[in-house]
Amino acid sequence: MPVDHLYVHVPFCASKCPYCDFNSHAGRDGEVPAYVEALVAEARARARDVAPATVFVGGGTPTWPSAEAIDRMLDGVMSAVTTSRLTEVTVEANPGTLTPEKVRVLRRHGVTRVSLGAQSFDERRLRVLGRAHDARDTVRSVEVLRDGGVERVSLDLILATPGQSVGEQRRDVARAVALGPEHVSTYVLTFEEGTAFTKSLEEGRLEAPIEGRDLAHLRAACEDLAAAGYRRYEVSNHAKPGAECRHNLGYWRNAQWLGLGAGAHSHVGGRRWKNVDDPAAYAARVAAAGEAVAWEEQPAPRSALFESLMMGLRLVDEGVDLAALAARHGVDPRVEHRDAIERHVVAGRLERDGDRLRCTPAGIDVLNAVLVDFVPDEDDARG
Ligand code: SF4
Repeated sequence: MPVDHLYVHVPFCASKCPYCDFNSHAGRDGEVPAYVEALVAEARARARDVAPATVFVGGGTPTWPSAEAIDRMLDGVMSAVTTSRLTEVTVEANPGTLTPEKVRVLRRHGVTRVSLGAQSFDERRLRVLGRAHDARDTVRSVEVLRDGGVERVSLDLILATPGQSVGEQRRDVARAVALGPEHVSTYVLTFEEGTAFTKSLEEGRLEAPIEGRDLAHLRAACEDLAAAGYRRYEVSNHAKPGAECRHNLGYWRNAQWLGLGAGAHSHVGGRRWKNVDDPAAYAARVAAAGEAVAWEEQPAPRSALFESLMMGLRLVDEGVDLAALAARHGVDPRVEHRDAIERHVVAGRLERDGDRLRCTPAGIDVLNAVLVDFVPDEDDARG
């Protein structure tokens, strides 16, 4: 399998959002020049033979550094790889960080798609989420992107934020739709370990989520987006016809990708590895050794099969091809997981059509509970 996907991580942000557990850092802008040079050096060292079909620059906030820094980074990375197969180049951005000059830089380097972290259009919710922008910034950012000729815009929305009613969320979704994005991602707020939100929850300063509330919010968002012509093609992602994110489809199909930058994961030739998380440590390692791998592993066949099932069953209509997974991993899920598949099909959570296995709408709502039955035993997972 070729390496079809290239991920580039830019870990700098204007401020740290209280719910965020991504590898992102505020107040470290002085490190940007050395980090950009490390990214370019890593791309030259590791991505020379790569001809990706998609590139995704994520963060952090890749559009937070200056136009010059973004220019240097994109120039260095894109000139290190073969670009003849490219069909999609996505950059994540946050409202308030995009200028016409930065959009010109993005376009000059072939960016076709910008994923904008709108999160909400309600000023109170944006304050609760600790976002560094307001709703007008989002509207202006979409205008700047369209004026600059960006073909595809995706908006991220966070669902079920503290204090938000379903009605308020419906107004948020309507305002997102009114801006005409080709793609909308909807993520239910989760309380991740080590975040300021989780600390507030533990200390009783934030109300504990009510059971079932997330599902009500998720269903309302799916209904509203479907009514507006967006197809839910993955648990949290909705697209106008043909506007699915090809890069993320690669992850869900458990394809091969190379990740560059601090904390970036890679999956090539059956091996997985991850770079060191800290941006300064990453830059120093790359400067000294040309790479910054923190760990690497070769998952056992049953673990690799589970990863393919876990990712592929997130794809709403597509699901997974059981025969293809058997050929790829050398373990046949039709044999290995016969009982689990049958049980969930009978219960209406999975649907089987020949070798195609997918979640039903009821199964998607409880996907994690379904996947538990496919987890390999500890001994099998080690191979
Ligand atoms: S802007 Fe995004 S990456 Fe940065 S801190 Fe906020 S949620 Fe995290």
